[in-house]
Amino acid sequence: MSTDSSSSGRNPAVRTRFAPSPTGFLHLGGARTALFSWAFARHHGGTFVLRIEDTDLERSTPEAVQAILDGMAWLALEHDEGPFYQMRRMDRYREVLAGMLAAGSAYYCYCSPDELEAMRERARAEGRKPRYDGTWRPEPGKALPPVPEGRKPVVRFRNPLDGDVTWNDLVKGPITIANAELDDLIIARPDGTPTYNFCVVVDDWDMGITHVIRGDDHVNNTPRQINILQALGATLPEYGHVPMILGPDGEKLSKRHGAVSVMQYDDQGYLPEAMINYLARLGWSHGDDEIFTREQLVEWFDTRSLSKSAAQWDPKKLNWVNAHYIKQSADADLAARVAPRIARRGGAVEGVDLPAIMALLKERAETLEQLADDAMLFCGEFDAAATPPELVAQHLTDAARAILRDFAQEAGSIEWTREQIAALMKATLAKHGVKMPALGIPLRVAVTGRAQTPAIDAVLSLLGREKVLARLHAV
Ligand code: GLU
Repeated sequence: MSTDSSSSGRNPAVRTRFAPSPTGFLHLGGARTALFSWAFARHHGGTFVLRIEDTDLERSTPEAVQAILDGMAWLALEHDEGPFYQMRRMDRYREVLAGMLAAGSAYYCYCSPDELEAMRERARAEGRKPRYDGTWRPEPGKALPPVPEGRKPVVRFRNPLDGDVTWNDLVKGPITIANAELDDLIIARPDGTPTYNFCVVVDDWDMGITHVIRGDDHVNNTPRQINILQALGATLPEYGHVPMILGPDGEKLSKRHGAVSVMQYDDQGYLPEAMINYLARLGWSHGDDEIFTREQLVEWFDTRSLSKSAAQWDPKKLNWVNAHYIKQSADADLAARVAPRIARRGGAVEGVDLPAIMALLKERAETLEQLADDAMLFCGEFDAAATPPELVAQHLTDAARAILRDFAQEAGSIEWTREQIAALMKATLAKHGVKMPALGIPLRVAVTGRAQTPAIDAVLSLLGREKVLARLHAV
């Protein structure tokens, strides 16, 4: 098909897919690949397909499938079709295999593992690249060896011997591989099960995929897949291979860098919209824009702006992006997201104005976890006895207690608003001829057990008069 992704024009015929192997969690690299495929489909008003490549029975687990679905749902990367499971498509693969055998684009190979090993040995000894020598490849006028009794054959793809495979990679530009470099790939095992590259080809064909966007660890598979698609008479998709993500140390991003599952970022208090924004910038750009909405991403996404070079994971920048989205969030929304985190800390949100607390704290928070930690000032039990003795000794001096007593006396009769509390503090300072710290810090220590808090007038107003006075009277 003609797929001019360079114009901003829509192309509803676009069909992309995300095709994870369920052998682990949805990790950052996978999530980014999914995001690019999703954004490309959405940009064009096309279709985004989810396909679970679960043919590796030893490594695929239902838990991993669920983890991938959870990760996609958290990031709101909704698919339009699927999930399709390769294990449920075995009949279809066998049907296509049979067709290829009948058409002569695939053939049975009866070489034993020992024979193949000997083939490789010979090649090595002669300084050639180890490759299948074509023993069972049918050629006009060639006599094939007798079929060894009782031996189950593999099926090989009859790869063209001459010429090149060329594609114009959406990310890397033109790539050419000589067919001489490619072996006659095994597409079915002796037990008849299809191999990885073959399933991908049949699926991309059947699912009408027009654009394959995937990690560049798959570049080597592409010429093989193109040859098989061509043998099937299929329309070729376009391919775009995105470079990997590097860790902050320049090594390939791995568990060592704390990159396990995207859901771990949920646990750690990152917002999905921040994650989407940050992941999009790992290998894609729109001018100098660092912050953009999901809608803008969809509007702007094109493959020309995908970077040819590897992107580097930068936790500080992720925190910066997350802090931005936290600041932008509505207070009630933040309260809803932080409440369960407070509960996990043993805090209580009944009777506190959590949205107002969020309004106070969100200016400085990088994660929802930090917000929950900070909110415990208002939602946790207060135990005066837990205040560090050195804080008491330094700040709750007799002089300080006299000022606090004055403040507490008047505090019973003012209107309990941040403004009125601030006014009372000012009046108390004036009366005693002291500066702000002489009241502000003793107040913090007496009421919160800490010398540092957000603005103390705001803290007092949010704590409520009752708690404040009880704590002041206690000291
Ligand atoms: N299942 C492959 C993987 O998880 C992706 C295959 C593809 O995108 O073509 O790496």
